[in-house]
Amino acid sequence: MKYLYIVSSPHGGSTLVSLVLGRHEAAANLGEVSFIPKLLAMGELCTCGDRLAECAEWSKIFETLAAEENVDMRDSPYDFYLGDAIKYRHGSGLVDHEYQTARRMMSAKLRAAVETGALLASPGRLVLRALTPPAVKRSIVNTSKLYAAAATAWNKALIVDASKLPRKAAHLYMQDPQRVRILHLVRDGRGVVASRVKYMSADRAAQRWKHYHSITRRILHRWVAPADRRQIRYEHFVAHPESQLRSLCDWLDIAYSPSMVEPADRMVQHSAGGNPARFQFVGEIRAADERWRKVLSEAQLDLFERIAGSLNREFGYG
Ligand SMILES: [Zn+2]
Repeated sequence: MKYLYIVSSPHGGSTLVSLVLGRHEAAANLGEVSFIPKLLAMGELCTCGDRLAECAEWSKIFETLAAEENVDMRDSPYDFYLGDAIKYRHGSGLVDHEYQTARRMMSAKLRAAVETGALLASPGRLVLRALTPPAVKRSIVNTSKLYAAAATAWNKALIVDASKLPRKAAHLYMQDPQRVRILHLVRDGRGVVASRVKYMSADRAAQRWKHYHSITRRILHRWVAPADRRQIRYEHFVAHPESQLRSLCDWLDIAYSPSMVEPADRMVQHSAGGNPARFQFVGEIRAADERWRKVLSEAQLDLFERIAGSLNREFGYG
């Protein structure tokens, strides 16, 4: 059994990659696990169309956890702590105003700063462990329990979490290096910025993209063994899904399944956080990623080049 944790920037393609992997018969794409408490609290939908709290498949997981942990996430979602997943759907605003108080936001920010500092500066695991806030440790233990409950309830060999939080990825890996694998998904920063200029300046979007990937790369290189992490390019994935998926399946110890790239009309997934699957199959979105050439102005491209051009080239984007 393996747990695949996907890290990518917002608009980095993780939804598509996780949906495609979730079409494997032996895999379950749970969606963005870190946001499950908020999704439950706000009555959001599972990708099957039912409310997450009412989805029969998810109920199996919530019941297992309720029996083991004495807390039913359907009744008190935040009592099974999965981390400070404060930001969600940047720009479209899924905010739980009752829960996300100024005080909680502040303590989450402090915790994040402490955690990032510890991951970047600790000389070894013992120091890192000592510096990691107890709440972070609890969120890692709970998230692993949720993965295990899902794998058992749904009888799956691969659990996919597209929560995209690099710090959490590193901690999950260190807790269970036998099972956890980290996929660092990169996408041309200009494509990401083109998707984000709807709701933030190109300057800010470029800064955020660069910051996310620089920190992610440093954290993963420091704490995750090279064999247990992969970096792939979103554009390669959509251009050559079959060869990319064969290689990922090898790495994840599951046999390749053509169902991942075939149209499957009646296939229903139960993922948290996201709209009902928009992609019939991966082939439909091929070559969709040249859009930035039309969307971004010359001035915005110059700006991107100054801020993030060198990192973009390091990822292979000329
Ligand atoms: Zn469902």
